[in-house]
Amino acid sequence: MKILVVEDEEHIAQGLVFNFELEQYQATVAPTGEEALRLFGEGDYDLILLDVMLPGIDGFEVARAIRQVDARVPILMLTAMAADEDRIAGLECGVDDYLTKPFVLKELMLRVAGLLRRAAWQAPATPDQRSFSFGQAEINPENLSAQIGARTHQLTRIEFDLLRYFMMRPGRLVSRKELLTAVWGYEPNTATRTVDTFVLRLRKIIEPHPSKPVFLISIRGAGYQFNPEI
Ligand code: CA
Repeated sequence: MKILVVEDEEHIAQGLVFNFELEQYQATVAPTGEEALRLFGEGDYDLILLDVMLPGIDGFEVARAIRQVDARVPILMLTAMAADEDRIAGLECGVDDYLTKPFVLKELMLRVAGLLRRAAWQAPATPDQRSFSFGQAEINPENLSAQIGARTHQLTRIEFDLLRYFMMRPGRLVSRKELLTAVWGYEPNTATRTVDTFVLRLRKIIEPHPSKPVFLISIRGAGYQFNPEI
């Protein structure tokens, strides 16, 4: 497994490489966003660990540029503070999860392992992965696109998998724990707002009025429920 570590703080980058190598991953450091894009263009990476604050182009721009050519490679973003804007902005750029700095190393290693595990499922669409639709939406597994009326949105692999997970369980209560294990490949007790942030993101795509969702609704204290028929 090859990991691209995009981090300008040398001691953090070296610490990460050391720990990744202990886990038998191959890790390459890019100290700038420009270098990250150059290395990404040349290599075949299984995961990108991406710091937001970089000299030159920042992590958001790097994520956006990678997503233009690759909707599938997992991107784990390191954000400076627990700023909501950072988390939402990261998802808009196509990242698959984020961790706030300073992070706990064990937590980071667990997330990386989880994302790599799910990356192994990134097989091309098979015949049983037909396109699916609800309301005005038509979701295409082959190019991970969501056609909503006249608009087309490019989904990332994880956005697509999350949507499909809901779609296959219409009307059922789905808990955050279940989603973290099934979609992200994480341990169920992972402390993160990842699921909620992704649901907000999906609502912006699929809901006619994202602040008053009708398809993807919250069940207070329990999780979410997807209602394809409205
Ligand atoms: Ca930095």
